[in-house]
Amino acid sequence: MMDLGATICRPKSPDCPACPLNAGCSAFASGEPERFPAPKRKAVRPARYGVAHWIERSGSIWLVRRPAKGMLGGMAALPGPDWTDEPAPAETALVHVSHVFTHFHLELAVVASDSPTGEGWWQPLDRLVDAGLPTLYRRAADSVLEARSALAA
Ligand code: SF4
Repeated sequence: MMDLGATICRPKSPDCPACPLNAGCSAFASGEPERFPAPKRKAVRPARYGVAHWIERSGSIWLVRRPAKGMLGGMAALPGPDWTDEPAPAETALVHVSHVFTHFHLELAVVASDSPTGEGWWQPLDRLVDAGLPTLYRRAADSVLEARSALAA
């Protein structure tokens, strides 16, 4: 069977006349054997939604540590409520970040906020790289800083 697949029943150019299985082959009977098998549909990743708070004072931002269990468990993060399956209420976001995880993609809105929430720490913006932010939050922070630079230019 493996030889047949390699030499005769090639996906793009099956040699059906030479194939010992052609008498019982539905693909051959269809007259368009190259259309089989039908391409697999790509799995559609569901969307999830999140809000992250950008709380800045004196050149630092407030970071928290995510719960040990769950996505990005135990990692540094911008504070914010749990992600949901429903779009967050419209807030004036500083930036929006789309991020693809294995099983879903996340639309994260970063909004300005005044009050530090949760247990966390002030991370100097000029040492943001030392915070160990995962890619999602690193991108969110970079996007805010880039948007600010663009406004100032
Ligand atoms: S007859 Fe069927 S099994 Fe044989 S080469 Fe054609 S498509 Fe493949």
